[in-house]
Amino acid sequence: MSNFNTNSSIAKTLCGTTLAEHQQALLCERIKSLKQKTSKPPCLAVVFVGENPSSLIYVDAKQKACQKVGIESRVLNFPSNTAQETLIKTIQNLNNDATVDGILIQMPLPEGLNANVLLDALSPEKDVDGLTPHNLGLLMSRRPSFIPCTPLGCIDLIKQVINPEGKRAVVLGRSLLVGRPMALLLEAENATVAMVHSKSQDVPAICREADIIVAAVGKPGLITADYIKPGSVVIDVGITRHEGKICGDVHESVNAVAGWLTPVPGGVGPMTITKLLSNTVLAFERNHL
Ligand code: NAP
Repeated sequence: MSNFNTNSSIAKTLCGTTLAEHQQALLCERIKSLKQKTSKPPCLAVVFVGENPSSLIYVDAKQKACQKVGIESRVLNFPSNTAQETLIKTIQNLNNDATVDGILIQMPLPEGLNANVLLDALSPEKDVDGLTPHNLGLLMSRRPSFIPCTPLGCIDLIKQVINPEGKRAVVLGRSLLVGRPMALLLEAENATVAMVHSKSQDVPAICREADIIVAAVGKPGLITADYIKPGSVVIDVGITRHEGKICGDVHESVNAVAGWLTPVPGGVGPMTITKLLSNTVLAFERNHL
C-alpha cells in the first residue's frame, strides 16, 4: 500500500444518512396518502434462510425502516437446511398472495441453495430488489421497471454533487447485485463508463481518469489515493466486517485527493434501504391504483 499523508482531508462527505432521511420523509407522506385511498399499507415479505450474522443485521434494519415509513413487513425465517422445493413453494405462495406487494430473498443463501432457481420463481411484479432476469433485462433494454436498490441509491448520491453526463466513470466490480446495474445506470445518465474486475490490468491508471468512481469490491482499503483524480466523486459501496468494525473499499488516504466521498457506515447503506422502501411503494401503487 502506498505511503500517503492521511492527515490532510479535502474531500467533502457525501452523506447517505441525510439524503435517506429526506427521501424517507417524502415516502412517509406518499404512504399516508396511499393508505387514505386504499385503506391498507404496502407490504414487503422477506424470505430469510439460515442465520448469516450480517444478514440478520440487514433484515432487522430493513424491518425497522419499513415500520418507520408505514410499510408492513413480514419476515419468513427458514433454517439453513430447508429444501429448495419448500422455498420455491413459499415464493409461489407469496407471488399469489394479494396482500403482499414486494418480495425480497435475502442474499447470500446458505450453501446448497441456488439463488438463480429461487429468483426464477419470483414474480417480476413483486421483485422489489430488481434481481430477476426479467427486471435486469428491462434495465439493459432501457425500459427499467424495478432497479436494484444499491445502484439506484448510488445514482441519487452521485447526482447530489455531479451531473454524470459526459463524465468518465469507473465501476469496480461486476456483480449482478451492484457492479453491472451500476454501470448501466451511469451509462443511462450519459456518462462514459468503464467496469473493472479482478482480472483487469492497470486498475489505478484507469481509475485516475475517472470523475466518478464506484467501488463495489468487498476488499477493505483497496482504493488508495493513487487511484484518484483530484476532485473526483468517490462512492464506497464496500462493507466488510473486520475485528468488530465495518470497513469500506476506500482507504482513508483518498480523503486527501477526492472532492466528495461517501462514508462507511452512513453512505450507501441507508440509501440501499431507502430504495427498497421506494420500490415496495412503487409495487403497491402498480398493484392497487
Ligand atoms: P461480489 O459479488 O463479491 O463482487 C465483487 C466484485 O469485485 C467482482 O466482480 C470481482 O471481480 C471484483 N473484484 C475483486 N477484486 C477486484 C480488484 N482488485 N479490482 C477490481 N475489482 C475486483 O460482491 P458484491 O455483492 O457486488 O458486493 C461488493 C461489496 O459491496 C461487498 O463488500 C458487499 O458487502 C457490499 N455491498 C454493500 C451494499 C450496501 O448497501 N452498502 C449492498 C450490496 C453490497 P470478478 O468478477 O472478476 O470476481
